[in-house]
Parts: sequence; structure tokens; C-alpha cells
Amino acid sequence: MSLIVQKYGGTSVGSVDRIRAVAEKVRSVVLQGHQLVVVVSAMSGETNRLLGLAAEISADASAREMDVILSTGEQVTIALLAIALQNLGCDAVSYTGGQVAIQTDNAYSKARIQNIDSAKIKSDLADNKVVVVAGFQGVDDSGNITTLGRGGSDTTAVALAAALGADECQIYTDVDGVYTTDPRLVGDARKLDKITFEEMLEMASQGSKILQIRSVEFAGKYNVPLRVLSSFDEGEGTLISLEDDDQMERPLVSGIAFNKDEAKLTIRGIPDQPGVAYKVLGAVSNANIEIDVIVQNVAKDNSASITFTVNKAELSSAEALLREIAEDLGAMEVDADKNIAKVSIVGVGMRSHAGVAATMFQALSDEGINIQLITTSEIKITVVIDERYLELAVRALHGAFELGNTDETDV
Ligand code: ASP
Ligand code: MG
Repeated sequence: MSLIVQKYGGTSVGSVDRIRAVAEKVRSVVLQGHQLVVVVSAMSGETNRLLGLAAEISADASAREMDVILSTGEQVTIALLAIALQNLGCDAVSYTGGQVAIQTDNAYSKARIQNIDSAKIKSDLADNKVVVVAGFQGVDDSGNITTLGRGGSDTTAVALAAALGADECQIYTDVDGVYTTDPRLVGDARKLDKITFEEMLEMASQGSKILQIRSVEFAGKYNVPLRVLSSFDEGEGTLISLEDDDQMERPLVSGIAFNKDEAKLTIRGIPDQPGVAYKVLGAVSNANIEIDVIVQNVAKDNSASITFTVNKAELSSAEALLREIAEDLGAMEVDADKNIAKVSIVGVGMRSHAGVAATMFQALSDEGINIQLITTSEIKITVVIDERYLELAVRALHGAFELGNTDETDV
């Protein structure tokens, strides 16, 4: 018998019929003898609908009241699922975040879980009940309702799994796992059977938006095996866990991530002196603009240039700020380019292998794709290229690292 935490996302509980189907699935796991805690999201579209209602009344509603209204979406689905389970003769009880003491800080709309009192859940499980918990919500010290940020039900599920010492946290969603890259872009993208927490973080933060990133961080920190599976198809999904020592099996590159949401800014002809990078980048981040890739170059004449990327949505404010700084520093010019894309190869196998970068650059060169910026980490190499060549680059890299489905005719 194992203890499993399952989480069903918005599309999986998007209608009464789907909630019934989830109940059937849950019951079959119970019949196999497992203990089950089920976390649910609001029905798909519901959180947005609630946001819209509030927006009709006020464009800047108080954060506290926004969390009160947003938390209701999940309260509906927990009750519906518990009713559906009871209807199948399966003993079930539903709880809001507050009722099972999912304690958070008081940062409304992006609260962080601090503590979970798992006693009540454990005693229900001991009584052979399925415990259904509302995702995405908690309470602060004073009992105010808080929410965990969009997609936060994933984090609720992982936090519960960690608190309960569950054997596995299963995230049921509308895709059947994590792929080597976006299958909409590369036809022969392959579903991964397993991937490490670190790799998943790189894949997720780069635009494979399957899981809330925080839930993966949380799972890694507490070593909760996390499995992503489809609630509509059978299959083992993708297991996200710690790196195993099975070096033989470790692929060099596990996946190709990409991101079209960033823009590039360059400031040229600034003095090559201590404090200049701080003046430029400090001012930008003090304005709460998140900076991603940063590259600095110094020319022979001792003038420096700094290039960095920001979210496209923040390009104009970042550019305005940079022009002010440029004037201050007597810089030569400021350049903004929103037609860029970021492509990364990700893989823990890179740690122990040389030559991965060369393969990447050759594949891009073979396609005549110019690399504008390069950055690396231990398990990732990222290039910034012209947005027009994004698909071509992803396909070329996917092929170069042989990530596609292999011919299985001989099986
Ligand atoms: N219902 C929330 C959202 O739409 C939380 C979740 O689904 O994970 O973001
Ligand atoms: Mg989600």
C-alpha cells in the first residue's frame, strides 16, 4: 500500500462529466489498496471568470478580497469531487486550504506555504477516506485566505506530498508527460520517461509550461518524486526525480527549451570601469524589471558594451531607463531588439561530457543561423538568435542530439 497525492488540473475537472471520470479514476486507485489525497484546481476558465467579475467592479481591488474570491473556484471542485466519490460508494471528505491548515505568509496572490498540519488528513486516511483538498489556497497567521499564484495547485499538491511523506505526487493534466521539446514545433518530439528536478526547472522556466515552477523547486528540495500524466489517456507519464547514478543511461541532452517572450537591449561605448555594470543593470533591476541573459564585451579601445534580455512586455520601460543611464554615462548608443528568441539545450549528462557546445554550434551553423549571445550553466547551453529562425533551430538541435522517436519497427 502506498500513499499517493494526486492533483487534477482545470481541464481535468472542467465539467461535471470530467469530475465523474476523475472520481472513477480515484476509486480505481483506492480499490488497488492505496491511500489517496486528491488536490484539485478550479474548473478550467473559472479563475479567469472570477478575475473578470472583480475587474468589472474595480481595476484595483484589494489583494485580500481578490484572494477571497479566487479561492472559491477550488472550493466548488473539491465538493463536487467528494460528492462524485461518495456517489460511487467511496468514502471521501473535502477540505479548503484553511481547514487543513495550509499556513502561508501574508503575500496575497503569491503567498508561500510555510507549514501544513497534516494530522487531520492522516486521521482521515487511517479511516479509509479519500481526502480532497483545494489547491492554490492557504491561510495566513491571522486566518486571512491567501492564494499561491496562478498554477498554484501544483505547489499545494507537492507541499502536501512532502508534509505527508507520500510515495509519489502525481500531477494529472491535459498532456501525457514532459517532451524533449514542444511537439507542436517538432513532430517527432518524444515523451521522456524520466527527467531530473534540475532539468525540469530548466525546461519549465524556458517555456515548457506544464508545471508551476515553484512546485518543481519544492519537489526537488524535499525530494518528492513527481509524476506528470494525462487524465485523458493511459500511460506512465514522466517521472521527475533526483538524478540517479546510472551514468550509462543518462542522455547527453534531455531536451530543447525555447522562449519567445524576451527582448534584447544593448548599451555601447560605456567606460570599462568598476561600477559601470552595476549602474546599468542595478538601475534596471531596481525598477523591478527582471533581467535574464547578460553579456558584457570590452573592445580594444577600452570601451565596453553590455547586452541583456528582459521580458518583451517590459522592453519599452527598460529601454527608456537605459537611455537615461546612457546619457549619464556618456554612452555611444542604445539598441533594442524585440525580434529575438532564446533556445537552450538541457541535460544533466552535459556535466560529464565535453563537446556538447560544439555539436550545438555546428548544428546551428549548418542551418546558417547566426548566434547573437551565448550563456551556459552546468546543465544548459543557451543561445539567443533571430526569432525568425526559432523553429528551424529547435528542429536542427532536436535532430543533432538525436532526441526524436527512434524507428521502432524492429520491436
Ligand atoms: N485555479 C488556479 C489557476 O487557474 C490555480 C491552478 O489551477 O493551479 O491558476
Ligand atoms: Mg496548471
